[in-house]
Amino acid sequence: MKTMTGTGDDRMHDVAIIGGGPSGATAAITLADAGHSVLIVEKEEFPRFRIGESFLPKTLELLQEMGLEEQLRSHPHWVKLGIEIGFGDGRADLTRISFEDVMVKSEHQAFNMRRSIFDKMLLDAATERGAEISSGNGVRAIENLTAGDVRLRLEDGSEVRARHVIDASGQASLLGRAMKTRKIMEEYKNIAYFEHFENVVRPSGDRVGFASVIMCREGWFWLIPLDEKTTSVGVVVDSRIARKIDVPANERLQWCIRNCPVIAERMANAVGPETNQVISDFSYTCAPYAGDGYFLVGDAAAFVDPVWSTGATLGMLGGRHAGQLLNAVLEGRLSSKRAERRHHKWLKRHRNTFLKLIGSFYNHSFRELVIEGKGPMETHRALITMLAGGVFPTIPFRVRWRWEMLMVMAAFHSRIPIVGKRRPHSMLTMAGISFDSPFEGVINGKDDGLKASWRGR
Ligand SMILES: Cc1cc2nc3c(=O)[nH]c(=O)nc-3n(C[C@H](O)[C@H](O)[C@H](O)COP(=O)(O)OP(=O)(O)OC[C@H]3O[C@@H](n4cnc5c(N)ncnc54)[C@H](O)[C@@H]3O)c2cc1C
Repeated sequence: MKTMTGTGDDRMHDVAIIGGGPSGATAAITLADAGHSVLIVEKEEFPRFRIGESFLPKTLELLQEMGLEEQLRSHPHWVKLGIEIGFGDGRADLTRISFEDVMVKSEHQAFNMRRSIFDKMLLDAATERGAEISSGNGVRAIENLTAGDVRLRLEDGSEVRARHVIDASGQASLLGRAMKTRKIMEEYKNIAYFEHFENVVRPSGDRVGFASVIMCREGWFWLIPLDEKTTSVGVVVDSRIARKIDVPANERLQWCIRNCPVIAERMANAVGPETNQVISDFSYTCAPYAGDGYFLVGDAAAFVDPVWSTGATLGMLGGRHAGQLLNAVLEGRLSSKRAERRHHKWLKRHRNTFLKLIGSFYNHSFRELVIEGKGPMETHRALITMLAGGVFPTIPFRVRWRWEMLMVMAAFHSRIPIVGKRRPHSMLTMAGISFDSPFEGVINGKDDGLKASWRGR
């Protein structure tokens, strides 16, 4: 492994990558495999903690393509076979969404893993393939940004020079903030409270290996088995509603658990910390995603609500895409202008696909359709295909029209019920806290059907 710590040097690298998370490491592997000189500049020392521990079948396929499946399986992980989803009141069984039902040729499994392990595995692979790394020494400023002449100033004052830069700095969004292109999406201003626990009751029978998504009126929980013992537990709440919860932020996970019957039951004998970690989970975009000399990938480009566990997959495939385009540029097969345009279009298209998927989740009518299980004309299989990441490189027609139909059905159902109506469980109501306007309208995001369907069962 070639490791430079805190030095910087006057060599001209083909590509400098800011950030060694999954997006940056995937880009580095792609470039190093093609023989190009890559320098990853990473602010922290790995292993380091990150949230985002559940992956899609598409991520497994990408790891196979990069020759990393064996490494993955040699680390502690949990095979993920699907998702179970339902409301937090426990009045009905959770709905089973199995990756076996995808409509495209795809892996039928994914995995969950601690990010400290996963991210280090990828970063090590990048350096083993020939990428250099400067760790524990972040980028302080971008001093020049032109294809052929990129200059970065590191925290220790040294300079890095490269022909192109990939910004993979995650939520720090170094370039987006510097260029003032980072725009927060008002409808997804959420906060997440989370921790790791042992002794959490896991799905059994035909659901072994399933992650759980439990929905409440004010947000949703994840239960993600990470290995034999440990389960990642978190709750995502609208930031405006979170202010209504009158306990300190680092005690809100326990508060939410107490006020959600399904989760409280699963965690009756759980062992873990009393306090929780907190992260702001605001969706944003930093478009344009490429320009003169630069490419944005992963959370540095855009962050979309984590409900369907799409972040790392979109980031890694974006890193792969930027790496492949830059390989073509460095080998004289593509102009940098074209590569930049293509990357922007690619990222915009896939981000929009996932945004639609996420928008639908925050629509109560859509939730009612999903928990009903099988839809007509295999519409449910279109949803599962998208949840497995079967949207790359494009959404197949047989998936697309069924997905559009599901959207139409949700709109119709919000006016004239076509499946049973469900009153969503409310943690605030259970805790005896009233929550009328101004929160009414923001709960469940842009839901068109919530109030119309509020008649309950
Ligand atoms: C609550 C929550 C739950 C989530 N759950 C999931 C999930 O289940 N599945 C999923 O796929 N995704 C999930 N995500 C999203 C996922 O965590 C991210 O999409 C993913 O980490 C993006 O990877 P990345 O490589 O782009 O960024 P990161 O993993 O954040 O890596 C960026 C790296 O850049 C480095 N860096 C930052 N600034 C600098 C600098 N100035 N100089 C040098 N280096 C710098 C950082 O140290 C870091 O190592 C979740 C996110 C949240 C908030």
